[in-house]
Amino acid sequence: MTDRLFGTTGVRKVYGTEFDLEMAMNLGKALGTHLGEGTVLIARDARTTGMMVADALSAGIMSTGVNVVRGGIMPTPTLAFATKKHGFGTGLMVTASHNPPEYTGVKFWSGTSMGYRPEEERELEKIYESKEFKVASWDALGKEHTMESAVEDHIEAILKKCDADLIRSKEFRVIVDPGNGAACVLTPYLMQRLNCKVVTINGQLDGHFPGRPSEPEEESLGDLIQMVKKTGADLGIAHDGDSDRVVFVTGDGEVIRGDRTIALLARQVLKDSKGKTVVTTVDSSLVLDEIVDKAGGKTVRTPVGDIQVAIKLGEAKGVIGGEACGVYIFPEAHLAPEPFLAACRVLELMAKTGKTFSELIGDIPQYPLLKGKLNCPNEKKQPVMDALAKQLPKKLKDMVEVITVDGLGISLKQGWVLVRPSGTEPVIRITCEGPTEDIVKEILKTSEEVVKSTIASV
Ligand code: MG
Repeated sequence: MTDRLFGTTGVRKVYGTEFDLEMAMNLGKALGTHLGEGTVLIARDARTTGMMVADALSAGIMSTGVNVVRGGIMPTPTLAFATKKHGFGTGLMVTASHNPPEYTGVKFWSGTSMGYRPEEERELEKIYESKEFKVASWDALGKEHTMESAVEDHIEAILKKCDADLIRSKEFRVIVDPGNGAACVLTPYLMQRLNCKVVTINGQLDGHFPGRPSEPEEESLGDLIQMVKKTGADLGIAHDGDSDRVVFVTGDGEVIRGDRTIALLARQVLKDSKGKTVVTTVDSSLVLDEIVDKAGGKTVRTPVGDIQVAIKLGEAKGVIGGEACGVYIFPEAHLAPEPFLAACRVLELMAKTGKTFSELIGDIPQYPLLKGKLNCPNEKKQPVMDALAKQLPKKLKDMVEVITVDGLGISLKQGWVLVRPSGTEPVIRITCEGPTEDIVKEILKTSEEVVKSTIASV
């Protein structure tokens, strides 16, 4: 257990070998010490370890004199929403997001409904490592209460943000696949409230994830695709374990990449709002820039991770943001991922235009995208990346711009390439996109050759 506690977002570890209850309790103590007073909301997803980890966190927090409200099982966005609505000092989500079932972890949300910034996490980590925790006396301990209204409150708030009556009038047929995760308690009910005919698969909360892997990718959504096609449904909706992501499936059973759906929704938002900025991460498709451009807006790119998108949306007063993996953020609602409002926006657009989701998304082009990875020892990653920043742009055809917000991004006259060292494995990943299959293959081939020779020579 020598690794750092915090990873890219919060804590995410294998239970038993990398993370135990003592660590959870100390993390609670560190948070209580950091806050000094007030109340922390704790919720969890359906993982088998969730209740225990939440109990240990709660004990640690109360031992510092800070109060706890327990919200039970709910999606991560609901926790973020409730933290803001009730003015809690911090919201804790016990989850390991879309990781396999043996993982556990904690995500931290501030009172503004935004995830903890990296510097806030570092501050907390310092207290955790110092073990200098505040100790409240027996008569000044924090108290624990429960809250049962968070999901219902969240559903109400979402319904107010969309044209619910218009959606209701269409009686859409929707298949929901929460993947046995936290969305089991929300999405099917939200869809019912929108007068949709709802069928739910993998709809019972189960921390073993018996239905499918928790990450909603095309390979894991076979049952949903089949079900949508067989029943002639209008839309398929899939979530990950803590339900901060959503992936949409057309009536034809096609799984749509998030950046295309963001492009579709952004075009609509740009029509109706004063703000013109759309925020996405470096790995989103060029199609998003093109659609946003045409709609009179501009796209700003950030490093990967929803917190990075949220920070930039706040700074640039953006109107919508998200990630290709299925993250959607609507600043008009709050700064946490909002997969449920995204689903409502898709249905609303279908209702408004009378078009199917397949027809709507057919209007957003799809460019070929290829990925590669090369083994690279962890200690070589930085020198390799430094060398690549000098060499790779020279080797690629028609270089337009080098972006180094996260890894090495190179935009070309036709396409782009992103080279990033993996945060978890001894590999360097390459992602390329371009207007045709041949061009992308060429970009990937050249990039792989340069990365390979650089790894060998550093
Ligand atoms: Mg997640």
